[in-house]
Amino acid sequence: MNTNKNWNGRPYFPISQFYKDKFGEKVYKVPISVAETCPNREGLKGMKVCNFCDVWGSAAFPEFRDLEVKNQIEVTKNRMARRFKAKKFLVYFQAYTNTFSKTSRLKKQFDIAAQFEDVLGFVVGTRPDCISRAVFDLWNDYIQKKLFVSVELGVQSFNEKQLLWMDRGHTAELSIKAIHKIRDNCPEIDLGIHLMFGLPGETDEDIILAAKKCSALPINNVKIHNLHVLKNTTLEKDYLAGSFTPITREEYTRQTGLFLQYLRPDIAVHRLAAVASRHEELVAPEWAKSKLDNYQFIIDYLKNNKLYQSQMI
Ligand code: SF4
Repeated sequence: MNTNKNWNGRPYFPISQFYKDKFGEKVYKVPISVAETCPNREGLKGMKVCNFCDVWGSAAFPEFRDLEVKNQIEVTKNRMARRFKAKKFLVYFQAYTNTFSKTSRLKKQFDIAAQFEDVLGFVVGTRPDCISRAVFDLWNDYIQKKLFVSVELGVQSFNEKQLLWMDRGHTAELSIKAIHKIRDNCPEIDLGIHLMFGLPGETDEDIILAAKKCSALPINNVKIHNLHVLKNTTLEKDYLAGSFTPITREEYTRQTGLFLQYLRPDIAVHRLAAVASRHEELVAPEWAKSKLDNYQFIIDYLKNNKLYQSQMI
């Protein structure tokens, strides 16, 4: 385990540093939308749409989703190259559940992405109940071809009651099994999980337990997400009915600080807070609009209180 805690003056291990250490330069994720649905949206086994999910299924640029994969990659890559002088990329299969359709379809999309010389690999968003032998074989094939393959698993919570409230349609136990299964079958894969904070009734014990579970699991990174209300979701109805109150920035920041203190030092953190990518679709809270302000707010809190990742381990 890498126990280095020198994160260039930051109080946590940012994924940007992980990429820089691994690839020797800054690498940018190019989000694309190729999957069109997920088990929840199909109502498999009586499943419902997750209460926080809007019609775009977490896509960053849904306006491009009708373009061919190649064009989506080109358009977004060029935009990033102009804006950030980006030179190297990972193609992020982000929206919906990317391993829900046939593996042969995903292979075709990987092949298209791999043709770009400046693409170093892929990041695949999926759910704990949508992994299979065929998918493991596919991922391992590309790893053998020296492409970087990363999986981001939507775990969201280790609390079974919270998962039921979110209508996730899978248990925490299944998430843990899926993480071990992926690691056992794909030892070289980069494995990350997504977690949400700001769930109703969430306690400090829940946050500490989540960090301890992450630290005990064979994962490489974690993405934390402040639950916010988007238009046309079940959560919007709850919010308007007064049965859901979004977390404040102060409380979310405190929870994030707590989580980081119990998180292993070698687990990279994707971002410190999520923002609604389409402001017009955000219902609440207002603070989920401003990326840089939130980042600075959390960093200031951590530094002022002398808190850092893995401090309590
Ligand atoms: S969050 Fe993911 S699994 Fe849940 S409804 Fe949206 S796309 Fe489907």
